[in-house]
Amino acid sequence: MERVDILIVGSGASGAAAAWSLSRDSSLKILCLEQGSITDPAKYPSTSPQWELTKQSKSSFDPNVRANEADFPIDASNSPISLANYNGFGGSTILYSGHFPRFHPSDFAVKSLDGVADDWPLSYQDLEPFFTQNEKMMGVAGLVGDTAYPDYESLLPPVSLGAGGRKMAEAFNKLNWHWWPSYSAINTRHHQGRPPCINLGPCNTGCAQGAKGSVDMTYWPEAKKQGVEVRTECTVFDIVLDYKGRAKGVRYLDKEGAEHLQEAAVVILAGSGIGTPRLLLNSKSPAYPNGLLNDNGLVGRNLMLHPLAYVEGVFESNIQSSIGPHGCCLLSQEFYESQVGKDIECDFIRGYTMQILRGTPPLDTALSGYLTRRLPLGSKHHQAFAKTFNHNMGIAIISEDLPEWHNHIELDSEHCDRHGIPGIKVHYKMNDNTKNMLKHGIARSKELFSVAGAKVVSAFSPVKHAGWHLMGTARMGLDPKTSVVNQHGQAHSIDNLFIVDSSVFVTSGAVNPVATAQALTLKICDELRKNIKELVKS
Ligand SMILES: Cc1cc2nc3c(=O)[nH]c(=O)nc-3n(C[C@H](O)[C@H](O)[C@H](O)COP(=O)(O)OP(=O)(O)OC[C@H]3O[C@@H](n4cnc5c(N)ncnc54)[C@H](O)[C@@H]3O)c2cc1C
Ligand code: SF4
Repeated sequence: MERVDILIVGSGASGAAAAWSLSRDSSLKILCLEQGSITDPAKYPSTSPQWELTKQSKSSFDPNVRANEADFPIDASNSPISLANYNGFGGSTILYSGHFPRFHPSDFAVKSLDGVADDWPLSYQDLEPFFTQNEKMMGVAGLVGDTAYPDYESLLPPVSLGAGGRKMAEAFNKLNWHWWPSYSAINTRHHQGRPPCINLGPCNTGCAQGAKGSVDMTYWPEAKKQGVEVRTECTVFDIVLDYKGRAKGVRYLDKEGAEHLQEAAVVILAGSGIGTPRLLLNSKSPAYPNGLLNDNGLVGRNLMLHPLAYVEGVFESNIQSSIGPHGCCLLSQEFYESQVGKDIECDFIRGYTMQILRGTPPLDTALSGYLTRRLPLGSKHHQAFAKTFNHNMGIAIISEDLPEWHNHIELDSEHCDRHGIPGIKVHYKMNDNTKNMLKHGIARSKELFSVAGAKVVSAFSPVKHAGWHLMGTARMGLDPKTSVVNQHGQAHSIDNLFIVDSSVFVTSGAVNPVATAQALTLKICDELRKNIKELVKS
């Protein structure tokens, strides 16, 4: 195989942004290796009336249920939350909801502000230009003027609140709590050659319309035009070092299982908060017997998942709540920052986002109603169903998850992928701070629904299958003893090896991670572009 200048492992949110950024105005030879295949939007489940059924099987968020060829087993029996992802061209953005808020300035300095966890080695201000650049590429809808985010300058028109969203907004106003239309990577008008959203709602099985900003639709077409090559169905299993201890390239297996060595001047890991540590832990050598970059034992540690609480309310009237992108309606950050000293009921540090969700689609409504004994089977089913479907709204509490050493992933040699490469085992516990935060969020959500005039029919935490924000497993920092990469995403001990995905997050914030992860990727690549000639020559 011809040696390339830059090799990127993973084509998801961060790998795509890296490929685009590094190929701008450059003649560098860039290759991305992706273990999954290309998905065809014309074949997404939403193009068939069976779409909700396939969501329970081959289109599940859960790789153990979906069991695609590219998936690796994840044993989450030692965690109250199971993990969700997508291994394919475009990564987990194929399934994500497109909720796209930025981290807050305070998220980068929680140690200084609140005395917990650690500060990041960079600030919100360092990322600010890259947030803006990324939002333009991904196509982000919202409304400028939010007091929680004064920096936004331009966004696509916000996603419609709908009748349900308006009811919730009125309730927030009555309680004098912050709310704002969602920041959503969803086109609300034609943008960058993609059409607007048609409001049917199956965003989490892939957007056949192409309105949702998944990276196969946003960054990749541009990166490919700029000359980046993508090889799909190629599973990287080892990062190879040269005699000087620098990265020489990677070993990977193609679709047929044939092994290849791909040499590169620079190797960039973008395999996700679990894929990247899995690859590092699997890359053992005499210099790194416990896995590459794992001399301080931090690879796979400090896993953060944003445990969620869910509260559902049902209105008397039909508010057509199933119409529109499910996850993107409005949010409240009334309880985002630490409340110590402000509210006597708060017994936790940091805070949470209240994300208002639209009503569930038909099968989901019937199944969850049946399982929670609200909707009977038999002759009374349709009548009860009609009073719930299109009448319900949800609230997801996204809690800030503080990093803890004992929360981690490790290789699981007993459960391997189709090539025999170990899957992962997850060890995760929620601490009291998170539990108190979720309890508080549930109580506030009940209060909100009551003011909105809805009856609360379900409230619980943590949501079992909602481990889709994967962060912290190869953290960045200035000190090589307490971090894996530096503030430029560069491995402390190997100058031509970089990590650009949310593995490097120092803390988790209390919002969905992609806006921040991609801004960080763009910043890391911007810095890398300045030094690339030297790295490629050496
Ligand atoms: C159902 C769902 C809903 C979500 N909703 C939101 C949301 O609304 N907002 C938000 O911000 N986030 C959301 N997320 C999370 C978001 O999708 C992820 O945080 C984001 O995609 C992570 O980006 P990444 O580049 O780190 O990893 P991914 O996007 O997962 O991409 C990693 C890619 O690397 C590939 N890879 C890994 N290891 C290897 C290897 N060894 N060899 C070759 N290829 C490899 C994988 O196959 C994968 O394609 C959601 C996720 C899910 C599953
Ligand atoms: S609701 Fe909009 S974003 Fe979601 S799948 Fe439909 S067109 Fe795409």
